[in-house]
Amino acid sequence: MAFEGLSDRLQSAMGTVSGKGKITEADLKQMMREVRLALLEADVNFKVVKKFVKTVNERALGANVLESLSPAQQVVKIVNEELTELMGGEQAPFNFSPKPPTVVMMVGLQGAGKTTTAGKLAKFMHKNEHKRPLLIAADVYRPAAIDQLQTLGEQLNYPVFSMGTDADPVEIARQGIERAKIDGRDLVIIDTAGRLHVDDQLMAELQNIKEVANPQEILLVVDSMTGQDAVNVAETFNERLDISGVVLTKLDGDTRGGAALSIRSVTGKPIKFTGQGEKLEDFEIFYPERMASRILG
Ligand code: GDP
Repeated sequence: MAFEGLSDRLQSAMGTVSGKGKITEADLKQMMREVRLALLEADVNFKVVKKFVKTVNERALGANVLESLSPAQQVVKIVNEELTELMGGEQAPFNFSPKPPTVVMMVGLQGAGKTTTAGKLAKFMHKNEHKRPLLIAADVYRPAAIDQLQTLGEQLNYPVFSMGTDADPVEIARQGIERAKIDGRDLVIIDTAGRLHVDDQLMAELQNIKEVANPQEILLVVDSMTGQDAVNVAETFNERLDISGVVLTKLDGDTRGGAALSIRSVTGKPIKFTGQGEKLEDFEIFYPERMASRILG
């Protein structure tokens, strides 16, 4: 289960104050020391942890929380609010185009779950927003990727636009969007190529697709199990593509929480959705507040 270790550690840190009627500054300090360790162990970015601890401390001491009637609850509330803030505060809305079709580019490293997530998103938008999706297979480097998208399309009963592996991905994206317009499909999801590592050629290609496709959303798919690597990947993709949001996959695994708690702070871009399994319905909107409450138990 995701964040189990972090959750246990934070709850135990809160335990140092929660039984007490009165809290001293020393109690608060001890608690925050444990919170800091819990976050670092969960692989949260070092700078993010530092800022988090400072903010919670300032709020707890500044508002005379320790003198209040229920200091322990107040402190827990502050931690909850700041965890929520760390993950973006408000839930970040999905951008639809005022003029159909809405175009979404899925980007990310190979294996992160990009193709699966393209299918999940299509299904989600069909079910909840009554969209008529068209999927575009723009990963021409791996024939298996096109097959995988086509299988997904058949399973979901959505058309998949493909021009095989010999065509230029930019041209595939352009023609795919034209096809969507002709066929009245109001949601286009472009599955782009991924690599094992970020490389210049891939980034240049994605930039070219972006220019032609003019997407409302560029969603970076990252594997939450990879922790700080996911955060670094997000930073690089964001610098090159100015992504609109992140999809955090594999939250059903033994994830420590580092990616979820650092990405927004480090990149300034929100987590919009999460994946919690291999099945197409294992997909949810990301709500920072709910996640914070879940972590704090
Ligand atoms: P891509 O290379 O980025 O397109 O990745 P794929 O979509 O092919 O996914 C790689 C593997 O991760 C596949 O085995 C997927 O079933 C799996 N996967 C994707 N999302 C999730 C998720 O949220 N949870 C789990 N457990 N597996 C996932």
